[in-house]
Amino acid sequence: MAWDFSPTEEQRLLIDTVRQFMAEEIFPHEREVERLGAVPPELGKQIHKRSRELGLYAANMPAEVGGGGLDFLSVTLMDRELGKSTWGLMGWVGRPSEILNVCQGAQRERYLIPTVAGERKEAFALTEPNAGSDAMGIQTRAVKTGGDYVINGSKHFITCVRRPDYIILFAATGVDATPRGERKRITCFLVDVDTPGFDLRRGPQAVGHRSYHNYQLSFSDCRVPAANILGEEGKGFEQAGAWLSNTRLLVAASCCGKAERAIEIATQWAATRRQFGQTIGRFQGVGFKLADMATELRAADMLTMQVAWKYAAGTMTDGDAAMAKVFASEMCGRVTDQAIQVLGGMGLMNELPLEMLWRDARVERIWDGTSEIQRHIIAREMLRPLES
Ligand SMILES: Cc1cc2nc3c(=O)[nH]c(=O)nc-3n(C[C@H](O)[C@H](O)[C@H](O)COP(=O)(O)OP(=O)(O)OC[C@H]3O[C@@H](n4cnc5c(N)ncnc54)[C@H](O)[C@@H]3O)c2cc1C
Repeated sequence: MAWDFSPTEEQRLLIDTVRQFMAEEIFPHEREVERLGAVPPELGKQIHKRSRELGLYAANMPAEVGGGGLDFLSVTLMDRELGKSTWGLMGWVGRPSEILNVCQGAQRERYLIPTVAGERKEAFALTEPNAGSDAMGIQTRAVKTGGDYVINGSKHFITCVRRPDYIILFAATGVDATPRGERKRITCFLVDVDTPGFDLRRGPQAVGHRSYHNYQLSFSDCRVPAANILGEEGKGFEQAGAWLSNTRLLVAASCCGKAERAIEIATQWAATRRQFGQTIGRFQGVGFKLADMATELRAADMLTMQVAWKYAAGTMTDGDAAMAKVFASEMCGRVTDQAIQVLGGMGLMNELPLEMLWRDARVERIWDGTSEIQRHIIAREMLRPLES
């Protein structure tokens, strides 16, 4: 079957629109935002407003709830462009969690629709101090008491562009017996941050995406109605898994965008910076670096688009998404590092965005599942059919 990933006319228009938006609304603010370690609220609102006017806000959500209704390949192409900057800024171009699409009844009016409209902001809370890669190890518990659930536990590293209004929270609601032994029942809840018993505070500063803050959450006898269960009771792990595969693919796309920007800066520099009487790009030691960077990016782009195409065709597996994430995020780490080498000392100075891209690239191998966990997923898919 033929694979043709050339963008359609509409997709080309979308890419041009996002590129112009980035050049006008995002790139000019990077240095100041990096210096502050925060996005001033007025700037955040301006990015939000402009992205809504251009139809970029919540482009991933269905049109019937107010979203852009973009097909997944287009969302992937858009995220590739957004990936060229830092999350603190691009996060204001809202990309609500698709997991919210299972909202039912009153949840649609209270959570889904205002989130797609940009009036409310959610954060996704799975990770805990004692449960990162081992998500099944979460200790936050929600105990049914009458028509409510009483939540106790804590979460950390929970990111959002601003203080969130509510949390998509994963908690254990019991234990199931399975052929492989006992397995925690994980349930997903929607929890407003002003619920009594819920405390939310800023977490430590990370090395990259400095203006994209993380929060620590703690729950002490925090009571939420059973009506706040998102999806089915006991199905949270499956919901989180499906959403994470989708997100991993978008991480891959944004890594390709980031690497492309780093390569552009490095190529421009190598073509004009002179040492020993000639431009440095003419030295094989520099030219070969550029060649390797461009080749690695092309390979990551092809893999990402092929997996996005499989997603759109309904045939993407968890292993496919893991391959795209591990390959593109590791490529991005190498390419941003080599780009700095091409610039020499100037690569480390904050006059250029390269050092920011390099720092931001580091977390891509960790969040949404580390590289090691992606390799586990891929290997498991290869081995399982052959194991008895
Ligand atoms: C900036 C940032 C933002 C984040 N945002 C969110 C968020 O919004 N919501 C959310 O829920 N989470 C978020 N996370 C959490 C992120 O998903 C976890 O950090 C990640 O899953 C890894 O968990 P951990 O940090 O606890 O590392 P650990 O799980 O403790 O892993 C430590 C090391 O051990 C390795 N390791 C662990 N198990 C295995 C194994 N079986 N085989 C081989 N190696 C293994 C890991 O690969 C890693 O190298 C964020 C993290 C960061 C850093």
